[in-house]
Amino acid sequence: ETIGDNLRRTVEAHGDREALVVRSQGYRATWRELWQATTDVARGLIASGVKRGDRVGVWSPNRHEWVVLQYAAARAGAILVNINPAYRTTELDYALRKCGVGVLFLARGFRQANYVAMLAEVRPNLPDLRLALTFEDDWAALLDAGRGVDEAVLAERERSLQFDDPVNIQYTSGTTGFPKGATLSHHNILNNGYFTGEALGYGPDDRVCIPVPFYHCFGMVLGNLACTTHGATMVIPGEAFDPIAVLETVQAERCTSLYGVPTMFIAELDHPRFAEFDVSSLRTGIMAGSPCPVEIMRRVISQMHMREVTIVYGMTETSPGSTQSARTDSIERRVSTVGRVEPHVEVKVVDPATGAVVPRGTSGELCTRGYSVMLGYWDDEAATKAAIDAAGWMHTGDLATMDAESYVNIVGRIKDTIIRGGENISPREVEEFLHTHPAVSEAQVIGVPSEKYGEEVMAWIRVRAGATVTPEELTSFCAGKIATYKIPRHWKLVDEFPMTVTGKVQKYRMRELSTAELG
Ligand code: ATP
Ligand code: MG
Repeated sequence: ETIGDNLRRTVEAHGDREALVVRSQGYRATWRELWQATTDVARGLIASGVKRGDRVGVWSPNRHEWVVLQYAAARAGAILVNINPAYRTTELDYALRKCGVGVLFLARGFRQANYVAMLAEVRPNLPDLRLALTFEDDWAALLDAGRGVDEAVLAERERSLQFDDPVNIQYTSGTTGFPKGATLSHHNILNNGYFTGEALGYGPDDRVCIPVPFYHCFGMVLGNLACTTHGATMVIPGEAFDPIAVLETVQAERCTSLYGVPTMFIAELDHPRFAEFDVSSLRTGIMAGSPCPVEIMRRVISQMHMREVTIVYGMTETSPGSTQSARTDSIERRVSTVGRVEPHVEVKVVDPATGAVVPRGTSGELCTRGYSVMLGYWDDEAATKAAIDAAGWMHTGDLATMDAESYVNIVGRIKDTIIRGGENISPREVEEFLHTHPAVSEAQVIGVPSEKYGEEVMAWIRVRAGATVTPEELTSFCAGKIATYKIPRHWKLVDEFPMTVTGKVQKYRMRELSTAELG
């Protein structure tokens, strides 16, 4: 089945129910209306000369046109290339050129950035780019042009598509360095969306609040595709993440499910106006993308009514989910593990040096295999070979443990592990402990160079609004409760962490900044 085939079935089953709501644009569409819009845009793409396998880029924050384009491009057999809204000229130039994007859709701009001007700057270097269309100025004309293409032409195109055709190139978040373009098929992402929706028990009465960006698989797969495979409504608060817009949306739209990376949930829960909103319609949701603090999961369950919230663990290269807790798992399991392997996927934990499976409870590199593993990195065979071994296992670069009942715990990234005087320290473990301090809103722990120990532990702390705390107080809070060698020797109280737009903390940037400061 292709993404288009699947959408058609949902339209047949639920035609007049609401499919998509975008609050910031005042946009509301039923499945039938969404289908018609994707039909017109798919015909518009064909009218613009887009062939099967051509790369169509999209550089925009969350808007309804993004969702329509996602399905229209899939139906027209194009490969959608998601461009991060935070990219600037150098990254844009790289991302478009690397994939040979022929047609680019963009918003006029986002926040302070003028996308049209930035594109004009790099366009002379991009011989493949023959068409650039803004959502604001060119969308309506594209729809019109599409209506001039015979529907039979689109039907013919759709019949020629295969389930394992590439449909999407997604750049990884760039949390650990340079983003890589993962090529994903209909089969990869459609199934991942489907199994996610199954795990959350989605049906046509669910209304899913998606404040995470579409440009990343959390939004477009765990969000949009989980909804379309189950007839659930996609509810989009707006372009940029804003905790108040999210809370308002949940209340006004009676959302049953809410997504976010941990930092988004923290921003909502800790907002001084949190208590003003009625979010009691929530039942479930997903926290994912980076380590999910146990304390935050507990607060999401007790204060946001998300009794059935689950954690998903995954990565762009695996479409993205590999493990997910079940909504029927005990709260204890759901807050403290990333659940068990998803259907039709395998996971194993290996010694990164030898590749041998380690005993249960011992940490090692998590590897995953199954339908969800990407086709490869676009135009980068060497990187693909380094990531996926001959037996088809994707090496995630993440450290994990698996318990006797096969629940997986993510210990951290191999690259983030702190080695102090020969002792391996998991930043995650120290962070979890610091989160139990009442004045700590968020803690991030890194290793910084030390002459004596090779590396020394450093904590960056965001203090809760209205609270105060000093490094001395935090140090004595740790004393006697965690091993002395794990207690941070350096502290930095901050308002913000360096972050990707997906809201992931970039520890490599923190290390660079702190290393320079500590000299
Ligand atoms: P890059 O590969 O460019 O450095 P990235 O790895 O952050 O960036 P993504 O594919 O967006 O790019 O993120 C996948 C990573 O996010 C995983 O490898 C893992 O480290 C982390 N992650 C995702 N979900 C979880 C989770 N539930 N708990 C802990 N970590 C998670
Ligand atoms: Mg990665």
